[in-house]
Amino acid sequence: MNNGQLLNFVDGQWVRSSASDYLDVMNPATAQALTTVPLSPGAEVETAVSKATAAFYEWRRTPSGERIQPLFRLKTLLEESRDELARIITNECGKTYGESVGEIQRGIENVEVACGIPMLMQGTNNEDIASGIDEHMIRQPLGVVAAITPFNFPAMIPLWFLPYAVATGNCFILKPSEKVPMSSQKLFELIEKAGFPAGVLQLVNGGKETVDALLDHPSVRAVSFVGSTAVAKYIYSRAAANGKRAQCQGGAKNPVVIMPDADLEMTTRIMADSAFGCAGQRCLAASVAIAVGDAQDRFVESIADAAASRKVGYGLDEGVQMGPVIDPNSKARIEGLISKGVLEGAKLVVDGRHQTVSGYEDGYFVFPTVLDHVPPQGEIAHTEIFGPVLSVMRAKTVDDAIELVNKRAYGNMACIFTGSGAVARKFRYEADAGNIGINIGVAAPMAYFPFSGWNESFFGDLHGQSHHGVEFYTQTKVVVERWPKEWSRQF
Ligand code: NAD
Repeated sequence: MNNGQLLNFVDGQWVRSSASDYLDVMNPATAQALTTVPLSPGAEVETAVSKATAAFYEWRRTPSGERIQPLFRLKTLLEESRDELARIITNECGKTYGESVGEIQRGIENVEVACGIPMLMQGTNNEDIASGIDEHMIRQPLGVVAAITPFNFPAMIPLWFLPYAVATGNCFILKPSEKVPMSSQKLFELIEKAGFPAGVLQLVNGGKETVDALLDHPSVRAVSFVGSTAVAKYIYSRAAANGKRAQCQGGAKNPVVIMPDADLEMTTRIMADSAFGCAGQRCLAASVAIAVGDAQDRFVESIADAAASRKVGYGLDEGVQMGPVIDPNSKARIEGLISKGVLEGAKLVVDGRHQTVSGYEDGYFVFPTVLDHVPPQGEIAHTEIFGPVLSVMRAKTVDDAIELVNKRAYGNMACIFTGSGAVARKFRYEADAGNIGINIGVAAPMAYFPFSGWNESFFGDLHGQSHHGVEFYTQTKVVVERWPKEWSRQF
């Protein structure tokens, strides 16, 4: 930071942007400005890309076992800074301290996995594809790559990409969300301490102009994006039109089926955390509950109790279970969608609109909300609300429930709560989503599995994390080699 303005990190130096436009970064619980973030112009992307291009020559020639040493140091630095980073996340993003600590842990796990790159990026080979001829497939880095990330996991989501990109030998530029840029500032302070060579990892703050400059720059070979579906589609098509690889993770509307044989106490506890944790601002939040048969009334009654008793407040205060939503626009949009649900015929069982938290009267709080009898064909059943709102639909059988699950455009996650292995298997087999939870409320893949969104939740083929990340950030080269045995006779 410099005079209350965040800096960019380019070519191993903290630099002040020449931007004429700045935005305030707000604490959503207090509605107070924390700092300002520059909307860096395209020329600053140009500088970052040229420094990254220059750094790439040496970095890709650095043995993979050496490339991972700064990643090991970064893991330790992240662990040592966990408390400070968690407080930054809570202050700029609103989630509770415990949720912030959790997201840092999930980020660290990706650093750990990427430290295995000397094995993960191994190629394949066949001896004697013809007599005396061998064939090899080797993996080489792409060059300069970039990631554009959303507001809801400011520390974890950059780490879905960054460790794999640099471990495989690329140089990486991060454009974080302009709503939560302070976590990336801290992350890059740690990156500086970890000792990566200048130009290998760079941070350019900004908005649309900054993103477009990355998408249009011919030396940026690949773009990773996480955010809303509309922007994911835009980034995917503009990156592809410019000949780049792209992996774009979009929005979600995640259905969870509750069978009559589900353990009601466990299901309610997990569902409340999934629907209202992080104030519902998780791409893996349970946003639609489909209650089957005689689970219907029992589930609505128990989730209503859980919603009404959840303690809402400032995420650094003791005992708070849910923080605010990100900004006043989100609060207005979420409250508007709740009203729309009522107009469409849903029954408002718990109403979280127009509430305040004592001591934080200006904060952007929406309390947990439960809508029952949500009509399956209405807007509320299909629109991503991205707030602490659970919509309950009712189904007679598991087949009816799966039909409702598969009617939606998104495909990030689908879950089922049941005591029956056969029903669980049927669900796993038939549900049209890339991440499936069975008696799990947030089916977030560990770092060693790909984050497999489908349909309108993902554009691309190789997902973030694990071996998909390794494949995304490398290009394969096939070498066919002949060394006639007679040539060795001279020695
Ligand atoms: P967003 O799409 O508004 O912004 C994401 C990023 O795109 C930011 O860095 C922003 O600066 C940039 N951006 C925004 N508009 C742009 C434009 N017109 N042109 C170029 N760049 C633009 O998303 P958000 O509000 O920050 O995040 C919430 C969304 O992210 C939700 O829809 C949520 O479901 C989704 N999300 C998805 C996943 C996943 O894994 N699928 C994970 C987290 C969040």
